[in-house]
Amino acid sequence: MTDETEADLTGATPRRRAKAPVEKVGGRKLRPATMMMGHGYDPMLSEGSLKPPIFLTSTFVFPNAAAGKRHFEGVTGKRPGGADGLVYSRFNGPNQEILEDRLAVWEEAEDALAFSSGMSAIATLFLSMVKPGDTIVHSGPLYAATETLIARILGRFGVHWLDFPAGATREEIDAVLAKAATGNVALIYLESPANPTNALVDVEAVAASRDAIFKGAKPPIAIDNTFLGPIWAQPLKQGADIVVYSLTKYAGGHSDLVAGGVLGSKEHINTIRLMRNTIGTICDPNTAWMLLRSLETLELRMSRAGENAAKVCAFLKDHPKVERVGYLGFLEGGDDARQADIYRRHCIGAGSTFSLYLKGGEPEAFAFLDALKIAKLAVSLGGTETLASHPAGMTHLSVPEARKKALGITDNLVRISIGVEDADDLIADFEEALKAV
Ligand SMILES: *Cc1c(COP(=O)(O)O)cnc(C)c1O
Repeated sequence: MTDETEADLTGATPRRRAKAPVEKVGGRKLRPATMMMGHGYDPMLSEGSLKPPIFLTSTFVFPNAAAGKRHFEGVTGKRPGGADGLVYSRFNGPNQEILEDRLAVWEEAEDALAFSSGMSAIATLFLSMVKPGDTIVHSGPLYAATETLIARILGRFGVHWLDFPAGATREEIDAVLAKAATGNVALIYLESPANPTNALVDVEAVAASRDAIFKGAKPPIAIDNTFLGPIWAQPLKQGADIVVYSLTKYAGGHSDLVAGGVLGSKEHINTIRLMRNTIGTICDPNTAWMLLRSLETLELRMSRAGENAAKVCAFLKDHPKVERVGYLGFLEGGDDARQADIYRRHCIGAGSTFSLYLKGGEPEAFAFLDALKIAKLAVSLGGTETLASHPAGMTHLSVPEARKKALGITDNLVRISIGVEDADDLIADFEEALKAV
């Protein structure tokens, strides 16, 4: 839609995007995997370059003075419609805009924003939504830095929080939301599956509870979809309003960048964009370009990693030195019945990150980790290479013992993120490492 004519109207440099993005061929709506190769970019605006150049510039030239004025009328709200086009690189750039268009495609979101990290995305979301006295209701546990941000940092500014456990039932969610609703609930923030328990949040139940309890203005539901999105879970379809990503993980997928993303309706995204424009938490053009490359293989990489994880988990499940494998693909009846039900309603696949509980404790876990030859001993997840870590001794070392116990973060727990290597090679690696236990 942004051609020269519109650029004249909005008073800023046109985006380097396609005049008419190809979204359909012969009436067939194209799948995201196809759109990742061209959506939002017009080579003819960049001297025919098949791939978008990396636009290393801090500012963009206005076509004329009146156009510059019109742009700022848009920015300041003197003219309706808001700012469009490119002006200054703290606000946006061509690489980031193409990336945002393509991120939105995966979950059919109206709009998206790119950030310098998952945490800067989450922090910008919070800052744009809450004020002193407000309450954030969240599922627990959350990514540790997100918990710190809510409880210790926003807490300093008079923001309150209440939480419910990730696997909570509708009744349990109702109870927490009803209690929170005596104050002003600014945001409902979820993370599913929870790390490292892998407990899934019932997003449909949270949305139904929110709609039942809040009669007037309804607090938006945001969800961190880093572990399963966008291939294995798309929570906008279950009633979430905003999806948050650490693009550092599966989306970036090569363990070579740090970035974040937020997806949602134009209205919510515009609110968050205003804060991002103010504080400058956008990702840089080079990172955006790397992510464009990553998105071209997103489905390939995630499908392969998911298939690998299914094979590796099937091997580990019945191994005599293994106590239990916490893998979404193994959810069934019994104690797991409710989680299995959420899984069926919310998930398209089981992902490739899981919890391995060895028989024994820290010595057994360490012996296993130290004997791995293909899998690398590192935190993080979602890369092409398989990673393994020890939450109790690493990422969750500072978590108090009682909470660790409640979360199932035991000394015999090893977290594994399966990559795209050959599955049988990985199985051989785990088989040999288990011999060392
Ligand atoms: C890694 C991660 C984050 C933080 O993302 P960064 O890119 O490291 O800032 C947030 N949420 C989840 C679930 C994560 O795994």
